[in-house]
Amino acid sequence: MEQQEIKLDIPPIFQSDAEEKPFETCVVCGKDLLHSQENYMVEKVFKTYEGHDFKSTVFEFAICTTCHQKMQEGMSEESMQNMQNYYQQFIQQRGSDSIMIDLRTFDVNQWLSKCFFKSTPVSEMKEYQVVGMFKGDKLILNQPPMVIGYQAMEEMAELLSKQTRDEMNGFREKFLGPPPEFSEFIYGKKLIMV
Ligand SMILES: [Zn+2]
Repeated sequence: MEQQEIKLDIPPIFQSDAEEKPFETCVVCGKDLLHSQENYMVEKVFKTYEGHDFKSTVFEFAICTTCHQKMQEGMSEESMQNMQNYYQQFIQQRGSDSIMIDLRTFDVNQWLSKCFFKSTPVSEMKEYQVVGMFKGDKLILNQPPMVIGYQAMEEMAELLSKQTRDEMNGFREKFLGPPPEFSEFIYGKKLIMV
């Protein structure tokens, strides 16, 4: 039996800050995401500033499922296994309740206000990532969006093989332009009030 898709309008946090509207194309193949029937992922990294109430977008992109799968094929077996173990361990520790969404009370902003893995509030993190799965102009909740805080990002990076890290850095440079330090400088003026 096919699972029914549960959809929401795209929350502002998942829109492109550079374009000030939802992402329209896959960063790799240029596919029209809003009109294709293919799922896609949006990933954004934010940086916060201690003592200030704003955050800046370090980088952001949307990628279609086809390109994302190709990218994952570049991951080493070992890295894939390590990431799966990381997730499994988390689920075992926390119980499946932590990943259950009650639609009657679900509030996407609240859901995205803390690290999925560590529960650290985003306001207390110097850097964090948001990822979500989409189709057309909707967020798909079957694979819930999540905030990945700096600490969890570091832990995961350590689980990746050097080969996989090199592949990922290559991807960033090729499709997202200069390394984060530079793009942050470029986009630094674009601040989002929270
Ligand atoms: Zn693509």
